[in-house]
Formats: sequence, structure tokens, C-alpha cells
Amino acid sequence: AAKESGKNGIQRYSAELHKQSFERRALEADLKNALHNHEFEMFYQAKLDSQSVEIIGMEALIRWHHPNLGLVEPVDFISIAEDTGLIIPIGKWVIETACRQNMQWLKNGNRLLPIAVNLSPKQFNDERLLDDILKILSETQMPAEYLVVEITERVVVEDAVNANKVLRALKELGVGLAIDDLGVGYSSFSSLEIFPVDSVKIDRSFIHGLPENQSNSAITEAIINMADRLGLNVIAEGVETIEQLEFLRKYQCPQLQGFYFNKPMPADEFEKYLNNSKQSLA
Ligand code: C2E
Ligand code: MG
Ligand code: MG
Ligand code: MG
Repeated sequence: AAKESGKNGIQRYSAELHKQSFERRALEADLKNALHNHEFEMFYQAKLDSQSVEIIGMEALIRWHHPNLGLVEPVDFISIAEDTGLIIPIGKWVIETACRQNMQWLKNGNRLLPIAVNLSPKQFNDERLLDDILKILSETQMPAEYLVVEITERVVVEDAVNANKVLRALKELGVGLAIDDLGVGYSSFSSLEIFPVDSVKIDRSFIHGLPENQSNSAITEAIINMADRLGLNVIAEGVETIEQLEFLRKYQCPQLQGFYFNKPMPADEFEKYLNNSKQSLA
């Protein structure tokens, strides 16, 4: 029986793989038209001060409204966009939309807050990136200090010489730099020493196990301490429970992000959320 289920398992696995590559090609074809057809939308998730629970910024996260499939999550299309090069125009649209939205919230009477965008490796290493960012900042009139770019260590590993050049240029402009998903993947931590980074985001896989899982707890605590000694800001991502919140407060993680506070939401909903939190603080 074990043998049989094993065989079924393999059959199921290869059927799944076939389905996956088939779906991937179909998605790839649709992705080519998505920007032109206005199928993308940015969602926004707050970053909060761990002590005051005041909103101190937000992360812009892309969503794809596929005409037949409905909402497609970034895990299902960002890597396709990356492999096909479509990430360049899509990524530019992301930065532009996030900056324009942020200035709109300001015009609507909100305090200007730093807005973070995710940059994928190909986008980060594209020679047009700096010019595009400069153009977007000047067109939207958003001060560079209110833009944060989140990159994973993978970006840095792929082309360290270029990454260093781009990061320094961004730093000079005043753009904030955050290392995303810290602790997973390459995780050499050398990027923190070499590059002009402002913040690190502890990957949510570590936050998930708090406080019971001992290695998750130890790693989280170590990252918080290390960042503190290096003079870096730390953000814990994926905070879902009060127990996780209490742990992170106890170890003085300065900033938090996660479903415990809010999920990523469309711009108009996020604006209401900003307005409500203003009232509750007043
Ligand atoms: P990320 O940059 O690490 O973003 C955080 C992800 O964690 C988001 O998933 C967010 O919805 C999710 N999240 C936040 N709080 C919680 C929580 O409490 N629990 C759980 N389980 N998840 C939480 P999302 O929006 O699906 O994005 C996934 C990844 O896709 C992002 O990870 C980022 O790497 C990439 N991505 C998203 N938007 C963009 C974009 O505009 N451009 C690029 N290049 N990549 C993007
Ligand atoms: Mg991110
Ligand atoms: Mg992350
Ligand atoms: Mg991630």
C-alpha cells in the first residue's frame, strides 16, 4: 500500500508540475497585457511604532486583478515578471503609483509618511532605475526622504558592485533603504556592513514561532540586538498575535507590521484607516 501511494504521489506531483508550467505560461501571456489593461492595484499596509502603536509609515504591495482568475497574489506572478523582464515597467508603475498616492493622502489632509516599495533584483540592477526614481520624485513632488526601498539580500548578492553604486546614489538622494526578509536566503548579514542600510525587516517566518519556538525567539532577539548596535531600525513583519506583540515589545523591537494590526488594503480603505487612527490618537 505504501508503494502504491508513493507512486500515486509521484503521479500527482508530475501532474501538478505540468499544470504549474502550463499555468505559468498562460499567466505569462496575460501578464504582458496587464499593465496596459489597468489590471494592477496597489494595496497598503501600515508600519507601527511598537510602543505607541502609532502609524509611522506603510508598505505598498502590488495586486493583480486577473480578468478570469480574480485576485492573483504577488507570489504567483512577481517571479514571472522578473524572468520575462516585465518587472521593469511594472516596477516603475509601482513606484509611481505609490508616490502619487502618498502625495494624494497629504493633499487630503493627512500627515506625510514614508512609503516603502519592494524592488526585485532585476529592477534594482536595471540601469534606468535611478533616472526613473528621480523623474517620479520630481513629477509627484514627493521629497526623497519619504521613499523607502525594500530589497532582499538576493539583490546585493546578484551584482554587488552595481548594488553598492545604486544604494549609495539612493542614499545620497535621501531615499531610505531596508533589507527585507532578513534571516532567510543568503543571510550572510555582510550586506549590513557593506551597504548604507537604514532598516532591517525580520522575516515573518521567525515571527511566526514567537514566543514558544526557541530558535525563532533566539534569532529574533539576536537580530534586534545586532540592529540596535549597528544603529539600524528594525521592523518585525507578520505580527499576528498578542503573544508575538508582547515578545517584540519586551525585546524592544521598535517597529511592527502584520495582520494583528491590519491587512494590506486598497488606497481608499487605507485613507479611512489613517483618519480613524488620527482620531483615536487625538
Ligand atoms: P514582502 O515585501 O516581505 O511583503 C510582506 C508580505 O507579508 C505581504 O505579502 C503581506 O501581505 C504579508 N503579510 C503582512 N503581514 C502579515 C501577517 O501578519 N501574516 C502573514 N501571513 N502575512 C503577512 P504579499 O503582499 O502577498 O507580498 C508577497 C511578496 O511579494 C512581498 O513580500 C514582496 O517580496 C513581493 N511583492 C509585493 N508587492 C511587490 C511589488 O510591488 N514589487 C515587487 N518587486 N515585489 C512585490
Ligand atoms: Mg517588503
Ligand atoms: Mg518581507
Ligand atoms: Mg517576503
